[in-house]
Amino acid sequence: MTDLERHEYDVIVIGAGGAGLRAAIEAREQGLRTAVICKSLFGKAHTVMAEGGIAASMGNANAKDNWQTHFRDTMRGGKFLNNPRMAELHAKEAPMRVWELETYGALFDRTPDGKISQRNFGGHEYPRLAHVGDRTGLELIRTLQQKIVSLQQDDHRETGDYESRLRVFAELTVTDILKGDDGAVSGAFGYWRETGGFVLFSAPAVILATGGIGKSFKVTSNSWEYTGDGHALALRAGASLINMEFIQFHPTGMVWPPSVKGILVTESVRGDGGVLRNSEDKRFMFDYVPDVFRGQYADTEEEADRWYKDPENNKRPPELLPRDEVARAINSEVKEGRGSPHGGVFLDVSTRLPAEEITRRLPSMHHQFKELADVDITAEPMEVGPTCHYVMGGVEVDADTAATSVPGLYAAGEVAGGMHGSNRLGGNSLSDLLVFGRRAGVGAAEYIAALGDSRPAIRDVDIDRSTETALAPFRDASENPYTLHSELQQKMNDLVGIIRREEEVREALEMLDGLDERAESVGVEGNRPFNPGWHLALDLRNMLAVCRCVALAALERTESRGGHTREDFPGMDPQWRGVNLICTLDDTGTVQLKRQPVPEIRQDLLELFERTELSKYLTEPELSRLDAGSA
Ligand code: FAD
Repeated sequence: MTDLERHEYDVIVIGAGGAGLRAAIEAREQGLRTAVICKSLFGKAHTVMAEGGIAASMGNANAKDNWQTHFRDTMRGGKFLNNPRMAELHAKEAPMRVWELETYGALFDRTPDGKISQRNFGGHEYPRLAHVGDRTGLELIRTLQQKIVSLQQDDHRETGDYESRLRVFAELTVTDILKGDDGAVSGAFGYWRETGGFVLFSAPAVILATGGIGKSFKVTSNSWEYTGDGHALALRAGASLINMEFIQFHPTGMVWPPSVKGILVTESVRGDGGVLRNSEDKRFMFDYVPDVFRGQYADTEEEADRWYKDPENNKRPPELLPRDEVARAINSEVKEGRGSPHGGVFLDVSTRLPAEEITRRLPSMHHQFKELADVDITAEPMEVGPTCHYVMGGVEVDADTAATSVPGLYAAGEVAGGMHGSNRLGGNSLSDLLVFGRRAGVGAAEYIAALGDSRPAIRDVDIDRSTETALAPFRDASENPYTLHSELQQKMNDLVGIIRREEEVREALEMLDGLDERAESVGVEGNRPFNPGWHLALDLRNMLAVCRCVALAALERTESRGGHTREDFPGMDPQWRGVNLICTLDDTGTVQLKRQPVPEIRQDLLELFERTELSKYLTEPELSRLDAGSA
């Protein structure tokens, strides 16, 4: 290759959201030469869009909060399918990661006595989300970037070069992870989005922090980067994906006007007092409290309203149930003909808080509705409906080190799976990014230290293959990548969306067969510089692989749990609680799905729950083992 730009690093971090930046900071602090690569502009990642806050049991708003309660809430939210070790580490380490952000310069909203303020969110027993108004992600990214700059200044003082140990490559898309003869990571291949020039990175460790897959669905809160690249990169490198059927449809996205359909309406609106009503003006969530949560949520509007002032003596409003429950309830109301004019329901904060309080607590929401829908949320309700928001499934990793099954390959943040089980609680992503981003940095450093001088070499044959694949869309071919993408999004929304049925998921798999075939004939016009059609053509193969994993797993899991609702199997089945669904690629590049046992929950962690609660989730043999003290 004549135009191949080459770089050599110890660690390559793919993704510059919260997970990638925290991983890069750690890798650099561990003394490693680190590259951060992102396909968007530096600073433009999903993390920057996060609104409501970061969950950590600091106990500032309620001194009773602690890691055990956070662990319990996370496991309940995930319907006990979470990797228990990940949920434990997350609950224990999240407060430290938030306080650490303050040492990097973060400025969270404060309580009257000067502590970090914490707000209520669905599924969290106590006010737990540290926040900066409804722009928390912006502060997180600002702070992490500031820390990166400060590390670069340290390096400049020592070496005379700001980028001697930590360099950011922005607007560069990675298309392949490369491996040496021994099957361990040797580097990564990508292209500059602006020029189309190819770039080769040699490095023994790669950390995937590429975020989610939402752009495979028509209605989504996610932006253009979320094409499942990291998931597909991991698959093609030989790693496995876990529980891809679990997709979070956030209950409240905008539904009108059509151009903004799917844009997120933060859960803070409900956390701060907003209520959901149908076209008959009924607060319908009281009709949708499932058995497993009965006892924790209020039965009457009066009790629910009292809870905001007196949470000790009242139960929570059902609007604050975990997201999967609220999304399904909204879906049912609309289906039963009690929806709002544009196919959603009403979310009202205007009758619940004074106007100035709304604009103080929810400035972005106020601005968003005024600008995009001409709705003044201080005076009228919003119209909202479910939107594809987050993927709980992801790259299978070791809880402590974030290592995948491929030596030298790590994953953290939304691209990694296991932590959130079948459904993520709001606020638990930002904390996940920091806890496991840091752990991935440490994991990679330990791996590299153990390697010594023997670093896997990049093979020429792999460079040739990556180049050929990247150039393939410049063929004389008939299919347009935009057409295929739009068909994929519509069908995934319709057939593998919030409510699933066997026939429809089968239809989706047939649709994917057809799209796979047509993707072979995708062609783009023009040359490599400034060519978004070409970029989409390359992203498309990632989306197709990832969607197949989603559909295969959705067909296999014959129960409803968290972010996977099967209309033909409406109940949660304890037999399925012990099963993870794992996707890998075989030698022919075909996705294979297998069942694998969920890691056992340690006895001391199980003992954090009442037995009556556990009996709603666990099988009889598991309960017997628990009673015998050996679960
Ligand atoms: P991201 O922040 O998305 O970063 C991904 C990075 O990977 C980007 O830099 C991207 O350019 C890069 N990338 C992707 N593919 C490639 C490739 N092939 N090559 C190179 N680079 C690549 N969670 C909460 O906990 N609290 C909240 O209040 C909250 N609010 C949210 C609001 C919105 C509107 C959205 C969309 C999400 C929200 N979430 C929230 C979820 C949370 O923001 C995300 O799950 C989280 O930010 C993901 O972080 P990440 O570091 O894994 O990925």
